[in-house]
Amino acid sequence: MSRQYETVIGLEVHVELATQTKIFCGCSTKFGGAPNTHTCPVCTGMPGSLPVLNKQVVEYAMAVGLATNCTITKNCKFDRKNYFYPDNPQNYQISQLYYPICRNGGIEIDVNGNKKVIGIHEIHMEEDAGKLIHDEWEDCSLVDFNRSGVPLIEIVSEPDMRSADEVIAYLDKLRLIIQYLGASDCKLQEGSMRADVNLSVREVGAQEFGTRTEMKNLNSFKAIARAIEGERRRQIELIEEGKKVIQETRRWDDNKEYSYAMRSKEDAQDYRYFPEPDLVPIIISDEWIERVRKAQPELRDEKRLRYKEEFDIPEYDADILTSSKHMADLFEETVAICKKPKEVSNWLMVEAMRLLKETEKEPEDMDFAPENLAKLIELVGDSKINRTVAKEVFELIFKEDIDPEEYVKEKGLMMVNDDGQLRSVIEAVIEANPQSVSDYKNGKEKALGFLVGQTMKEMKGKANPGKINEILRELL
Ligand SMILES: [Zn+2]
Repeated sequence: MSRQYETVIGLEVHVELATQTKIFCGCSTKFGGAPNTHTCPVCTGMPGSLPVLNKQVVEYAMAVGLATNCTITKNCKFDRKNYFYPDNPQNYQISQLYYPICRNGGIEIDVNGNKKVIGIHEIHMEEDAGKLIHDEWEDCSLVDFNRSGVPLIEIVSEPDMRSADEVIAYLDKLRLIIQYLGASDCKLQEGSMRADVNLSVREVGAQEFGTRTEMKNLNSFKAIARAIEGERRRQIELIEEGKKVIQETRRWDDNKEYSYAMRSKEDAQDYRYFPEPDLVPIIISDEWIERVRKAQPELRDEKRLRYKEEFDIPEYDADILTSSKHMADLFEETVAICKKPKEVSNWLMVEAMRLLKETEKEPEDMDFAPENLAKLIELVGDSKINRTVAKEVFELIFKEDIDPEEYVKEKGLMMVNDDGQLRSVIEAVIEANPQSVSDYKNGKEKALGFLVGQTMKEMKGKANPGKINEILRELL
């Protein structure tokens, strides 16, 4: 019988914080910009320059720590991690080794109803490195220091995950907590959230961990799931062949679905860490922690519960609406204007989700004004336009953020609620379709539908179908 293996996974997640300025200088953190324009002597490592800590970084790190049930280290410090690389102008990175700002937390995940807590070993603050651009045409490498000194937190989990599903659930939960806190937009594709996967396998029942590898370069949830499956297979094959897994950093190639060895995995001592002499320790008082705790906005789990109770929205819908902070904001802002939560939820759940899928966009990409959706809902509620027209108009709001009132007026799409006009059109339709009229009189309900359709056609879709039905029955 073949041996059974268990996969053991821990994650190191780097998150770029949403501060306006860098961690140790006043340079902008804005993404993009011409190379080396968001730089100064501090973030380019000029001799004699001194770092000054950005307070907002500490507050964001504390907020994430509190939301993930960590203990805040009241006396924390920065350390120097020494290494040479061309994108690292100081030849060291200011990070935290000995006294990380948060420790011993955990968040609960839910995979198909199975709940489990994934431990968080620590969260520490550090600075990002610059970016190397390898120009194959000119056969040279260029460096852009715009990203150098952008604040990061690194969230180190315990090796508590056992499958790709658990990893995805953990990352998704973490992403939503941080997005709701406003501490980062957590976009994997743009690199504002990056996950390194530490993975080992062992025989089921074994107490000791196997040798782990670390995988980098994972920029989507799908790539992470594929990388876990690929690396697990590779390690099991090595063990089955009597070979050894080597502790190393590997680069996942998502196109070839295989990981390649980058370098042997370093240990902390390889970096010659020592306390950062240019920065004073950070003393965090109980009052400061309380202030950050009190300033915490409503997080996803609370919001989901409130939607169910306050707006009487089904669990599934509340789940989708809160699955992105932006969508939840859009929902609440629209409800605040039109006071029709169920209608707003329906438009977002059905039409918006359909259009997102069709245009291959994320909920974050929806950029129409809540006022416009609210106006559309009013137009439907006041029977000024019918559902078919409303769907068309919604698509335009979704794509071009149009003002529905103006659009409907301009295109003459208002429903005709003038009974007299409608009545004369219906009379003409009855006269033109004697066969359908007699069919209806002989008990064929379907014939009525045909007459409604004919009337609607004559009215160019601008009539209220309920009203047509009513007048038709009356006249017949
Ligand atoms: Zn700078």
